[in-house]
Amino acid sequence: MDTRIVENPAQKSIALVAHDHKKNDLLKWCQEHLERLKPHRFYATGTTGSLIEQQTGLPIHKLISGPLGGDQQIGALITEHKIDVLIFFWDPLAAQPHDPDVKALLRLAAVWNIPVACNQSTADMVITSPLLGTPYLRHEPDYEAYLAKRTLT
Ligand code: PGA
Repeated sequence: MDTRIVENPAQKSIALVAHDHKKNDLLKWCQEHLERLKPHRFYATGTTGSLIEQQTGLPIHKLISGPLGGDQQIGALITEHKIDVLIFFWDPLAAQPHDPDVKALLRLAAVWNIPVACNQSTADMVITSPLLGTPYLRHEPDYEAYLAKRTLT
């Protein structure tokens, strides 16, 4: 796959998702890093977003709840270049009814080369990275080149 370079702006669009047993951890993490988070823009699955908005005052664009399709909505936003970073506190110790959606979301983040934090220590590293608050040149699949190479059989 050919790739191209796109510039992510200094103000990042950050998607926040936490499975039920991880919601408190993500809330605490948001409170701990509130000043670093404030300059950015936020999307979240329904329940996660409502809780974070109530507890921190961060304005959040809330999607539908994860098990009802919210993870897929975030995946779609990644393909539309509307998400720059994914903070996803998923629960590796509990079965999820929407496991295929979780996998699909992580797959799309990998396809589009979006930074993903799947646990607190990675999230700590992402939030303290100097790249978070500055423009970042990211490699991503070159869809125009991909289309141009497709031939009818
Ligand atoms: P929720 O979804 O924020 O609506 O609980 C999260 C998830 O389970 O994907």
